[in-house]
Amino acid sequence: MADARLEIYTARTDYTGADRADLRVGTTDPVGKLFEPPAGLRGCGARAGSSARWDEIRTRYTDRARASYRVRREAWLALRHRGSVTLVCDCAHPDTCLATVAAELLARALPGLAVLRGERRPQQAILQQGVR
Ligand SMILES: [Zn+2]
Repeated sequence: MADARLEIYTARTDYTGADRADLRVGTTDPVGKLFEPPAGLRGCGARAGSSARWDEIRTRYTDRARASYRVRREAWLALRHRGSVTLVCDCAHPDTCLATVAAELLARALPGLAVLRGERRPQQAILQQGVR
C-alpha cells in the first residue's frame, strides 16, 4: 500500500513492544538515535527543576531534533513504513518528557501520514504511584 500511516506513541521504559525506540542519551536504538537529546540534556520532568528550565530544555531539544531531521531526513521519513513507533523515556511524566516533544516533531514531519496516539497504557500505574 502506498498510503503508509504511522501511529506515534510515547511510553516509559517498562514498555517492551516491538516498536519500542529508546531515545535516552546514549541510546543504541537506531530509531531512538534519531531523537537522542544532546549529552548533558537530561532534564525531563521533575529533573528540570522549574517550568522555566523545562522550557529552556524543550527549546534546546527541539533545535537538536530539527538538526537531526535536516541531516537524517530520509531516516525520519522512512519511519512512516513502520506502522507504529513508541518513543520511550525513563522520566516520570509524559507531559514534561522529551519523548513527547519528539513525538510531536515526528508527527509534524509526516503531515497526513502520522497520528499522535499519546502515552502507552503501562504508564498509568507508574503515574499513579508517582503522584503520591
Ligand atoms: Zn522523559
